[in-house]
Amino acid sequence: MCKSCLPKKWRSMENNQVTEPDRCFCRYGLSDEITEALSLLGYEHPTRVQEEVLPHVLAGRDVVVRSRTGTGKTAAFAIPLCQQIVWEENLPQALVLEPSRELAVQVSQEIFRIGRKKRLKVPAVFGGFPIDKQIQTLRQKTHIVVGTPGRVMDHVRRGSLKLTGVRYLVIDEADLMLDMGFMDEVRQIMGLLSEKRQTLLFSATLDEDVKSLAEETVRDGVSVFPEQEGEAPLPIEQSVYGISQDQKYTAFKRILMKENPERSMIFCGTREMVQVLFQKLRRDRIFCGMIHGEMEQKERLKNVDAFRRGGFRYLIATDVAARGIDFEDVSLVVNYDFPMGRETYVHRIGRTGRNGRTGRAASLVTEDEIRTLRKVEAYMGVTLPVLPCPETEEEEEKAFWALQRKKPDPGPRKGGETGPVHYKTVHWRRP
Ligand code: AMP
Repeated sequence: MCKSCLPKKWRSMENNQVTEPDRCFCRYGLSDEITEALSLLGYEHPTRVQEEVLPHVLAGRDVVVRSRTGTGKTAAFAIPLCQQIVWEENLPQALVLEPSRELAVQVSQEIFRIGRKKRLKVPAVFGGFPIDKQIQTLRQKTHIVVGTPGRVMDHVRRGSLKLTGVRYLVIDEADLMLDMGFMDEVRQIMGLLSEKRQTLLFSATLDEDVKSLAEETVRDGVSVFPEQEGEAPLPIEQSVYGISQDQKYTAFKRILMKENPERSMIFCGTREMVQVLFQKLRRDRIFCGMIHGEMEQKERLKNVDAFRRGGFRYLIATDVAARGIDFEDVSLVVNYDFPMGRETYVHRIGRTGRNGRTGRAASLVTEDEIRTLRKVEAYMGVTLPVLPCPETEEEEEKAFWALQRKKPDPGPRKGGETGPVHYKTVHWRRP
């Protein structure tokens, strides 16, 4: 936030974290309520996708945006929606379609946080949850509904959700929506909305199917996407090894020996597993550190610092404990336990290949986890063949133990932002 965009009551306060005015949310003329909420969330300036999208949405244009999760894309539509919603109206004014229950919850929470000072009601509706409770919630004042297409249609049929007041439609994760076969329902919903609505379509990939969906849904509008045609590949080489649960540790050790990384982050699904793996590695005289949620904050910080300074090469972590902690020179990420969700996979492997470097990611998958792997592949638009567990050569083992005797290099100091993403805005008109 720059000084002039701080909410009035804060303007007299000293604020050391003021942003340059040309990179500040105040450029968009947001209300004090929204600005204050953004400030409380710690959003000091817009991310690149927000910089590109906000002016168009606020000017009433439709947009098609190619953007991955993790870029701040939810707030890119949540901020202008919250800004433009009229509190006094009783019927929902915006509908956000999400392909999964988890995303519906996550996105409704993010919109709620941004609209909190304006007291916006943002219920999430999704299948697999008693419909009666959702009907009760929808009977109350509702500003923005976030839901999965099937459940949204269910409510429309029951009369518990009225779409006549909807002026904004967001189709989020459009590529996944198509993959999951939700298109019929999305089309049905669009048929019920006013022609005058504003449509915002977000997708991680923009293949032909998504483009034709965009042409169908979006009137005169703008597309916002990174400069290169096609999805920019992550600078990370990804390998997946099929293993059975009982050979997991042996397989992991072989992968570690073969890869022999200078520094590695190893992710486990639970705190218990972090501890078990830590003990096993220590027993095998492979020095490592760990962070998980049950550890005292002080000890966690100590371990993070030791890893940064090169006290040990391998840091074993849970997702929660590692959230928000950045190390810049991790050469290998290992998914000892395969992540439960595709976003988690992307976040985990994104710990390597930062700042123009290349990285590697190795994942262990059991039979039960293959379905999640397929979802990751669809989400990232990549094919990840499942390889048999590698064998190690004597030379490789020697090199591994030689590295264990060497003191690890301390990591570099954390620099500025990660590699720049250039967005190009293309104006287009429907023929
Ligand atoms: P998303 O791409 O929507 O999944 O957002 C990724 C993360 O970025 C979320 O944890 C948001 O809370 C956070 N975020 C969104 N906008 C900003 C911003 N302007 N500044 C800092 N963090 C942000």
